[in-house]
Formats: sequence, structure tokens, C-alpha cells
Amino acid sequence: MKVESYDIFLDIDFSNLRFDGKVKIKLESEADVKLNAVDLDIKKVTANASCVKHALVGEDLDVKTGKFSGTLEVDYSGTISEKLVGLYKAAYDGGYVASTQFEAVSARRMLPCVDHPAQKAEFKLAVKTDKGLEIISNTPIASSKIEGTKRIVEFQKTPRMSTYLLYLGVGKFEEVKEKHGGVEYAVATVPGKLSGARFPLDVAKGSVEFFEKYFGIKYVLPKLHLVAVPEFAAGAMENWGAITFREIALLVDKDSSVRMKKGVTDVIAHEVSHQWFGNLVTMKWWDDLWLNESFATFMAAKAGHAMFPKWRIWEEFVRLDTAGALTRDSLLNTHAIEVKVNSPEEIEEVFDDISYGKGASVIRMLEAYTGEENFMKGVRAYLHKYEYSNAAGVDLWSQIEDASKSQVKRIMSEWIKKPGYPVLTVGLNGGKLSIRQERFLFSGRSEKTTWPVPITMRLNGATKRLLMDKEEEMIDIPDGVDSVKLNIDQTGFYRVHYDGIYEKVWRADLSALDRYGIISDAYAFAFQGKTSFSEYLGLVERYTDEKEYLPAYEVSDQLASLYSLAPKSVAEASRKFHRAQLKILADKTDENSVLLRGVIAGRLALVDDDYAQEAASKFSDYERIEPDMKAAIVSGFARSTGDFDTVLKNYKSRSSEEEKARFLGGLTSYRDPSLVSRALSLAVSGEIRKQHVLNLLGGVMRNPDARDVTWNWLSNNIDWLRKIYEGVGTVSRYLTSAIPYFGIGRADEVQRFFATHKVPEAGRGIEAGMERLKVNEDFLRRIGQTNRQVIQVRER
Ligand SMILES: [Zn+2]
Repeated sequence: MKVESYDIFLDIDFSNLRFDGKVKIKLESEADVKLNAVDLDIKKVTANASCVKHALVGEDLDVKTGKFSGTLEVDYSGTISEKLVGLYKAAYDGGYVASTQFEAVSARRMLPCVDHPAQKAEFKLAVKTDKGLEIISNTPIASSKIEGTKRIVEFQKTPRMSTYLLYLGVGKFEEVKEKHGGVEYAVATVPGKLSGARFPLDVAKGSVEFFEKYFGIKYVLPKLHLVAVPEFAAGAMENWGAITFREIALLVDKDSSVRMKKGVTDVIAHEVSHQWFGNLVTMKWWDDLWLNESFATFMAAKAGHAMFPKWRIWEEFVRLDTAGALTRDSLLNTHAIEVKVNSPEEIEEVFDDISYGKGASVIRMLEAYTGEENFMKGVRAYLHKYEYSNAAGVDLWSQIEDASKSQVKRIMSEWIKKPGYPVLTVGLNGGKLSIRQERFLFSGRSEKTTWPVPITMRLNGATKRLLMDKEEEMIDIPDGVDSVKLNIDQTGFYRVHYDGIYEKVWRADLSALDRYGIISDAYAFAFQGKTSFSEYLGLVERYTDEKEYLPAYEVSDQLASLYSLAPKSVAEASRKFHRAQLKILADKTDENSVLLRGVIAGRLALVDDDYAQEAASKFSDYERIEPDMKAAIVSGFARSTGDFDTVLKNYKSRSSEEEKARFLGGLTSYRDPSLVSRALSLAVSGEIRKQHVLNLLGGVMRNPDARDVTWNWLSNNIDWLRKIYEGVGTVSRYLTSAIPYFGIGRADEVQRFFATHKVPEAGRGIEAGMERLKVNEDFLRRIGQTNRQVIQVRER
């Protein structure tokens, strides 16, 4: 089957949340045509103007055309959904917009179509609706007219593209526009939010300029919309020419923190990179989804670094993307980057830390191996060769291999097809440096697998590279080893264990990234048991006076996670570290230090009652607090006063999403579990907005005082939760990260619960969560905290 074009007309009854549709599909088919349709009422189907028989079977609309060439016309109707997929209702205080989210397989909820990424076609969309409403789609408006109380808008034809990239937004949007370099940029928001539009508009311009240069191909469309959607399941979506975002992932005003600006920049750059890599050239099928996402994640860091060099975006990349993927990939319940996906549920579930973070990190490792210039040449050749068409991962590796004259296909194939990653054990053996590789698993289980590892090392002050292709490597060092550090700047996707030679590591010339790498690996080894907890805490000591952003941030992250797990064992170390860091950062004014100061203060408020009180005392002057410090002030206030109503009132009344997030954080940080329980009940009652539910649950998960109430809530509301996140992989990802915390002390009960309450869309997620729970429980046993004690502890 080959689809040529879609000509769509939608008559949208905005106030009654329904629409009538007519779609003309030009196509050729060797046999009966199979379209996809979900929740659509099919009225009539004609093939070249004659009525034909059709039947809806599951998500397939079978049309008895036989061998066919010409135009298929379908009359149908549908509703604007309450779920967050298809054409759905996104509510805000005082109204709603209708907006689409089609990736992966929800275009079929708005129109019958061949909903497959490789079935690219041109789309012509026309929409009729109430005349007071704005209508946004992928392309500029070609014509617009008023008929009585209605407005009819026709959009320009799109380039050939996949169905999941089609966009439609309808509602009272306001816009800021600017023409730059032949492209019209527009930020669209619901009424009253345009003050946050300037910064994202500039970042979009900067990103397009960066990618046009890097890829050597101009941005294809005449306009680029950034649409802030008031309710949105994911963070953002790269619809061609009309990128959608959560408000919090797009809008930045004078009250926004540095942290928010960095996050927003990353999301915009990511989505803009997809306009080439993903939209212009698209994967053939969803098993290469990882390539889309990994590449965009990697390129976003590149563009972010070019636009804001002082932010040191690569450090953020390593801390979030690489570290998240290494953690997830340390479980037996992981998956290879490349997975076979058959059903829509499976597609949604593989949007995880592996597809984004591991893929992106392996790509970064490849770039370090081939050299930046060769890598870029290969990417350019790939985009030119497959533009307006589809390709697979191997097509990209071929181009980079040609450009770099190195073994890219073989190396990438092994990294992509094997689950897990290696740990390298480095030791001294006579006059030789020995390096041994095996798979790293939290469970401690040994598995003899080897990868082709592009190793970089600083050895006695010089840089050395090699491709390690076997289990063990011996390197002659005639003059002996004075100093050594592997994985320079953490470009490699592996861990390094130094066998009794840590003092030689500290003697090496270490960058901030290197110092980060040492403590990051040590933390994993502490969970695995390779490193004892006291040894680990000894290492943490070394970082008390750390002056660099990345290693200090990492140690803070680790202590915060450990506090959620073992508050009693870690509270003192955490207080000491965070107090020392707050002093170091007190007078610094650069943006990264301002950001980190806020993070450190928030963590200190959780472990240090005196500090929480000090923070609470500043609450009366909240509006004048610097933006990065506000979240810490709120959680200090919540924690030390137990005042629920004030925090809730602020959550509800503030219009900025960033402010709402700060107060939502406050609602999760109470010491009194009954207050956390009250916050959780607000989710079901609707007082907490649907798109905030996950943030609420994420915050609660980290509160060691709230494990019982979290589990109670979750076991009673799992079906409700599944319903609001239907069709997206959110519940699966949440369970992976939350089970290891709330499941402590009740692993059997959790296991039994999920055995009887089937959550098919989260099967992988639950298994991974259960495995990590076991790792956590083993860890707690080793450090001498039994499970019950952990639950009963109330840190004072
Ligand atoms: Zn993406």
C-alpha cells in the first residue's frame, strides 16, 4: 500500500466537544485497504465515489476495495477526548483548548488513516469552528473566511510526513510572533500567559540557526509554532511546525529559576532538532524510536552548549541522561536499546531512560570515538540521502562509517543489540595495567559479556585511547603507573572500578566531569556491594569542600536519594555536606551556582530542622526571594509549620506553572503522613490537575515519612491512575521509580498486589521496579537498617 495524500475537513462543535469529519485519501493498494480508526463513528466509505463495504475490527477499518488506486472517502464523527491523546480537551482556569497528541498511534483517533510512520503523505487540512477561536496547524493558514457565526480555515499543504506529526490546536490562543531568517516564529499560549513567551522564542530561533548550520539543511517550513498546552501528558511533542509543550516546559518569565531556563532550553532544542531528525527523516518503524529520541537528546545538549556555554550543558547531560540510563541498565529487567515492538502499548512503554538516555550516551561515545567532524559529516549525508523518507539506525551508522573510516556499524550494533553495559576493573599486575570487563548488574550477579569499548584514559599525565574488544587487556607500563583515570570526561557508557589503586586516581589531572564520574561509580558500587557503605561515605567526605557544580550536585543527589531510603543512616552525612555547600555557594552569583544553591537549600530543609525553620521564617517575604530559592522556602515552611491550607491555597491560586510546582512540592514534603495523605486525596478529587498528578506522586515517593500512605493510596487508586494516563507510558515509568521506595518492607505484598491487579501497559516497569526494590532491601540489610526500623524512624 502506498498513500499519496490526505485531504481532511473537520467541522468542530467546540462547546459540545464533538466533530464531524470527512477525509479523502489518495492511495494505491494491491489488496483490500486497511485503515486505522479508534473511537470514531464511521458513517460512509466510498472508493472512487462508489460506496464500498467496510468493517471496524479492533483498531482496523477494513475496506473491501480489492486492488485499488484512487481516492477513498470516509465520512465520520468523533469526540474531543477527555483523555490526553487524540484531539483532546486541555482545560485551564476559565476555559479549555482542543489540542492533538498523536505519537505514537493516536492520529487514528482524529481521522481514519494508515497510522504507520513509514506511510508518509501530504496533508491538507481545513477546519470549521466558532468564529472567535484561533486554529493552529503544522503549516501557515492559506485562507480564512467567516460564515455567520463560523470560521473556516484552510491550511497550506504539508510536506510528505508521517501521520503522528500532524497537529491541530483550537481555542482562544494568544500569540507573540517574530520573523527571523525567513521563518515566522510564534509562541502561542492560553490568555494571559504571554509574558513568558520571549525567552522560548529566542531559544527557538537560536536552535533553528544552530541546526541549519550543523545539518547543512534549511528548516523546511515557513513557520514554527511553539504551543503551550495547558494540559499535556508528556513534556513536549515535535509536531512538524507546531511543537507542543507543557506550559512549564516552555514559558519563562522574570520569576523563573535558572533551573527552569535550562530545562526549557533543553526541551526546545530537543524538539527543534526533531524537525530534521525525526520529521524530515523518520524511522521506518517504532523499534527505531530510540534513534529519534537518543539523537534529539544528544543534539539538544550540543545546541544548548552552543547557545549558553556558561551553563556547561554537557555536565547536565551526564548527570541526568547518562546517569539515569546507567542506573536503569544495571537491572536484569532492562532491554536492549533496540527492541522489537508489536503493539501500541509496547511502543509507549519503551519511551524510557534506555531509549532516550542510553541511546544518547552511546551516540556521545561514538562521537568521541570518530571525532566531531567525521560524525557531523556522516549525519549530514544521512539526512540528505533520506529526506522526506524513512530510514533505520543502520543507515546512519553506514554514513558515519564512510565519513570516519572506522568500524561504526559493528561497534554500534553490539551496543544497541545487547542489554546492559560493562564495568571495567582496573588493577596493577607487575609492570602492567590490567583492564577486565564484565556486565555490571546491581544484583551482583556475574555475567561474562563483552562489548567493544572505546576506552579513553589519562595515564601518567598523557591521554591514551584504545578500542577494547575482549575480556581482558594488559598494557605494559615500563615506567610504572603514577596516576590513572579511565573514561576521560565521562564520554564512555561504562563504569570503572579501581582495584586497590584509588590513590593513583586522585593523583591524576581530574576535570569536574572526572570527579563526578568517580563518585557516581562509587555510589553504584555501594548498592551492588562491591564497595562498603563506610568506604562510600569516606569518599563523600572528600567532596565536602567541592567547588565545582557537577560533582557537588551529584553528591547532593546521592545523599537525597539515600535519605529517602535510609534516613537514619545518612541524615548526619547529608546535613554536614549540605551545610558546607551552602556556605561555599553563599556569595556566588553565576547562574549555575545560583541554581545549585537552591537545590542544596531544598535538600538541607529536609534533613535539618533548624534550617527548615530558618527557611520558613522567610516565607512571609516570599515574593522577594530569588526564584531558584523559592522551592526550598516552600518545603521548609511546609515541613516546619505543618500548615497545609496555606500551601494548598497558593498551589491553587497561582497562575504560573512553575509557582504551582513549587507549592505542589510543599504538599509532598510534610513530616506528618496524614497531611501527605490529604494531598494525595486531592488528586482523585480533581483539586490537583491531571498533569500534576505525576509530580505529586514523584515528590511523595521521595518522602521517607510517607511510604505507608503512598502505598495505601496507590493500591486503592491504581485504576484511576491508569485511566488518566491511558495510551501513554507514564504509569510504567512511575512504577519503575516508585516501587523501590514505597515497597520497602512490603515486597511480597506489592508482588501479590500486581499479580492480581494486572497493569498490562506497565508490565516491564513493574518488573524493573521490583528488581530495584530487592537491590534497595539488600542494601539496607547490608548497612544494618532493617526494613521496619526504616519505616518507624522519624528523624528529628
Ligand atoms: Zn523527542
